[in-house]
Amino acid sequence: MARIEIKIETDQLLIIRRRRASKIWCRECGCGVDMIDLKAVQILTGIEPAIMWKHIENNAWHSSRSHEGQPLVCLESLLKWCALGKRYGGLHDEP
Ligand SMILES: [Zn+2]
Repeated sequence: MARIEIKIETDQLLIIRRRRASKIWCRECGCGVDMIDLKAVQILTGIEPAIMWKHIENNAWHSSRSHEGQPLVCLESLLKWCALGKRYGGLHDEP
């Protein structure tokens, strides 16, 4: 069961990395990282946009803006957060 979930997430991540991610400077990471838009975050995590904003505001996720002014999330911080969420019991908990 867990193995299947991980497989699905990995596939989604590969698709997102290939299609949607763009290397953007992340101030918090101090390097160029893959940044994804909120739509891609939702595909990956299933989290509602209102909750996403909380994570961004709380700095749980690093964020930036695209050239078009779209909010973007640092994939590195998102993956770290996902790993923590799993360790402590679920992706969908409130922060
Ligand atoms: Zn970052």
